[in-house]
Amino acid sequence: MQNLLHNLNPEQLAAVTLPAQSALILAGAGSGKTRVLTTRIAWLIQTGQVSPSGVLAVTFTNKASKEMLARLSAMLPINTRGMWIGTFHGLCNRLLRAHHKDAGLPQTFQILDSQDQLSAIKRLLKAMNVDDEKYPARNVMYFINGAKDQGLRAHEVEANDDYNRKFVELYDLYDQQCQREGVVDFAELLLRTYELMSRNQPLREHYQSRFKHILVDEFQDTNDLQYKWLKLMAGQHSAVFAVGDDDQSIYAFRGANVGNMSAFEREFKVENLIKLEQNYRSHGHILDSANTLIANNSKRLGKNLRTDAGHGEPVRIQEVSSDLQEAQWIIEEAKSLINEGALRSEIAILYRSNAQSRVIEHALFSNGIPYKVYGGQRYFERAEVKHAIAYLQLMDNLHNDSAFLRVVNFPTRGIGARSLEQLQDAARQYGISLYAAVPFVTGKAGAVLGAFTKLIEAARFETQQLPLPEMVQIMLDMSGLMEHYRTEKEGADRIENLEQLVNAATLFVSEEGFGADAPALLGPQASAMAGAAITLADGVEIIDADAQLSTIMSPLSAFLSHASLEAGDNQAKTGQDALQLMTVHSSKGLEFDAVFITGLEEGLFPHENSQQEESGVEEERRLMYVAITRAKKRLYLSFSQTRMLHGQTRYNMRSRFFDELPDEALKWLSPKIQVQKNDWFARPKAAWVDEPQAGANNIAKNFKRDSGWRIGENVAHQKFGEGVIVNIEGGGDNARAQINFGKHGMKLLDLTVAKLEKV
Ligand code: ATP
Ligand code: MG
Repeated sequence: MQNLLHNLNPEQLAAVTLPAQSALILAGAGSGKTRVLTTRIAWLIQTGQVSPSGVLAVTFTNKASKEMLARLSAMLPINTRGMWIGTFHGLCNRLLRAHHKDAGLPQTFQILDSQDQLSAIKRLLKAMNVDDEKYPARNVMYFINGAKDQGLRAHEVEANDDYNRKFVELYDLYDQQCQREGVVDFAELLLRTYELMSRNQPLREHYQSRFKHILVDEFQDTNDLQYKWLKLMAGQHSAVFAVGDDDQSIYAFRGANVGNMSAFEREFKVENLIKLEQNYRSHGHILDSANTLIANNSKRLGKNLRTDAGHGEPVRIQEVSSDLQEAQWIIEEAKSLINEGALRSEIAILYRSNAQSRVIEHALFSNGIPYKVYGGQRYFERAEVKHAIAYLQLMDNLHNDSAFLRVVNFPTRGIGARSLEQLQDAARQYGISLYAAVPFVTGKAGAVLGAFTKLIEAARFETQQLPLPEMVQIMLDMSGLMEHYRTEKEGADRIENLEQLVNAATLFVSEEGFGADAPALLGPQASAMAGAAITLADGVEIIDADAQLSTIMSPLSAFLSHASLEAGDNQAKTGQDALQLMTVHSSKGLEFDAVFITGLEEGLFPHENSQQEESGVEEERRLMYVAITRAKKRLYLSFSQTRMLHGQTRYNMRSRFFDELPDEALKWLSPKIQVQKNDWFARPKAAWVDEPQAGANNIAKNFKRDSGWRIGENVAHQKFGEGVIVNIEGGGDNARAQINFGKHGMKLLDLTVAKLEKV
């Protein structure tokens, strides 16, 4: 017992050992919220207040739930595999699998990721002849997800005009389409579970009495439906333990509602509101920076953070002239950290938007530094992997039209647009899936389509007794995918990714506790369901679901939902010590010895879409707060004067956030001198020349190009009028300047010829 609790401060200890009532732990970053939550689970189990199966714990990411399970295993001598610890989506997936009949779903229902969802909507719009200029698929998707996140079905959404009524109609049709195809999107996982539990009293009461303790991490980012879901699962008797930080609420764009914190306090009659104010993660300068920055936000619940760790290193700030230089600078700094003994996995490079990672990845790759990207294009989202998954989906559920359309003519089988139209017409006419409609297509088209369905059936037949990895291997060959990429010029990478799928299946089967020989297609009924049937007092029989996937679905179904829910990270070989690249959003909850926050430029961070409203800027500021507080010992901030993004060069001002940090915590680094002053011709593009600097805070203004012109300077040109210099390349006779002439646009001018005047 002592063991579990001896590493806690008095407030943490109080939180961990609270009586079984609902409680809210409101505390800033790095104060030990997640540690408290995990320790509480262990303490509750160790003291016999609850059995492992009586705990429901919700984490924000799959990674976080894995970590929590690992920490629990280290603290307690129990098997954590069957515990209900996961994300909202993951937990709902399990509940729906276990109770698919009651939920009105086929056992092999499949999960649409957002990419699949968008294409399903596009397909619907096309079938309904909807004008996609007026109703763009993406907007329809936002509409649908927004409604679902609030817990509303189409008939519950109020629409006051024809335009909105059309959205509602499309929502309804989309739901019907999904139902017909046996697929559910992410928001549906939650809504379906919510509806199932609201409607089905015995089931609801069963789970309510089972989950005596419900614990939620990152509570500030729950949306309306998740909150309602929690309320329903808790019923009258469960104790809900919520931990969160209003300053880290960064998912408003996905419907997160920070107001849930005060609603929770009120509705769950929280008597215990505990604040944790000691930060254990970051050194003083880093923490001061975070505190000073977030003080600029107006809507806060208010709390403080202090540290005993001492000031530590100052926060280092670097200005560069281009994103390429930024990447180069990061690499140099990271290398010297590594030389000093830092682990690569303890160094994180954060960015506001995924598009920024490419340049950094390229530089890391060229320098032979192993790295791992979280988010971005993930393994299961790669085109070739998606194709392979689509074959597997079809083998599991013939009526998944999205999967059907993805691979019916991939690799090419001579199935043209006309044949597909014919097929779609037939499917619509009889209200059946594309697969089922194949026999209704006649002629040559019918023959080719028939060959495709035979292929799928043959693959199912040949693999039905085989374990998952072998099934995957056979599918890769039979489908023709391997052959296809073998003949493609740049197919080697893709083949490697496809081969990885076999490894991924092997790993998955063993991690999730399926027997190595368990047939991929057969559900748990065939392999003795572990969760026994329970007859409730009123004679209703339910299967009491274990959280273990192997007891509620077949290896194939489980693997496919894993592919949709996890998307997978696959950049570095597992176990390799690699630099960590991710967006600020996905860094939530994590910590690293050293953190680089890159691209701190107006328009990028804070993001341009946020700047219309003050609440938008406040959300960006919280995002910056999250980013800063990931760092334990070293924090680096960088901004670049120019940046290529989405194929365009942008010319940027440095982020306003620099002005919101405390001067005494910062150290502005000088741009590096890259060449000798008299070595004009050997000079790389846009090199810096040193000049004495006046104040540390305006380095940009104190460094000059050798041409006599400065970036940021206003100039006049005979033909183009007034403009501002945004970049200077070369030197001496080769000096050229990029100048923004407003309505005349951006010009690249030779400075020896252009006859510019200063204004
Ligand atoms: P975030 O808001 O970023 O999610 P958090 O509040 O969940 O942060 P944790 O991740 O639980 O914070 O803890 C931050 C770090 O401090 C971890 O490394 C944790 O192990 C450590 N820590 C927490 N409490 C203590 C303690 N009492 N003594 C020593 N270290 C602690
Ligand atoms: Mg945490």
